[in-house]
Amino acid sequence: LVHAVNVHKAFHGTDVLKGIDLDVHKGQVVCLLGPSGSGKTTFLRCVNQLETIDGGRIWVDGDLLGLEDRDGALHRLGDKAIARQRSEIGMVFQRFNLFPHMTALENVMEAPVQVRGEKKKAVKERALGLLERVGLADKAASYPAQLSGGQQQRVAIARALAMQPKLMLFDEPTSALDPELVGEVLAVMRELAGQGMTMLVVTHEMAFARDVADTVVFMDGGVVVEQGDPHDVIGNPQHERTKAFLRRMH
Ligand code: ATP
Repeated sequence: LVHAVNVHKAFHGTDVLKGIDLDVHKGQVVCLLGPSGSGKTTFLRCVNQLETIDGGRIWVDGDLLGLEDRDGALHRLGDKAIARQRSEIGMVFQRFNLFPHMTALENVMEAPVQVRGEKKKAVKERALGLLERVGLADKAASYPAQLSGGQQQRVAIARALAMQPKLMLFDEPTSALDPELVGEVLAVMRELAGQGMTMLVVTHEMAFARDVADTVVFMDGGVVVEQGDPHDVIGNPQHERTKAFLRRMH
């Protein structure tokens, strides 16, 4: 579903992604691991076109991101086409970025109604179903400030799902949470994975990666150092850089 080839990205002349090749097959969970600054977040942001890439190509479900082939040459897509591509991808960030002046239900309903122009009644039903799915049916009328961090993050997941995405991107969704709230968010993510959602997850939660990921990708310094079955990469890493990283995690 995601096919990234030789992706390059630099900020102010500093190479952050130096030729990333990465695939996520439909229904798979891929966890991206690696030290701070290795480029994991930047890669996710490229998949969601929050950043434009300097080189390489990314396809999502067969669609080449950001570009179209016209008259035998590649041209940058217009804003509308990019918005359409982005609307098919859900993203959950490290910090809960709910709209503070809207209830949980209104947050979940916002994009389908405002971006896609769907009918409120149908969206409301779907949104309530999603809140139930993340265990927050009773919090539909609560405002973000009235919710714990874990609850806010679960609303953020429901909000991303409301657009019925083909792919979900998670950028360290539990790293800003108090330790006792991490489990409830991971449980929702596990359930989503079990239901067949295609997921690309940046995480430092090794147990989650080991148990849930089909593939683990270890990045360092803007390159993929090694990837494979989580039991191999986490349990029996081949590269010194992976070993050093995993030692630090324990
Ligand atoms: P972390 O776990 O800390 O989020 P990461 O592996 O996700 O790390 P990135 O956030 O992708 O790493 O950052 C990679 C490098 O790119 C860092 O050195 C960062 O400072 C730099 N960087 C990221 N975004 C920008 C930006 N918008 N402008 C300039 N530099 C940036």
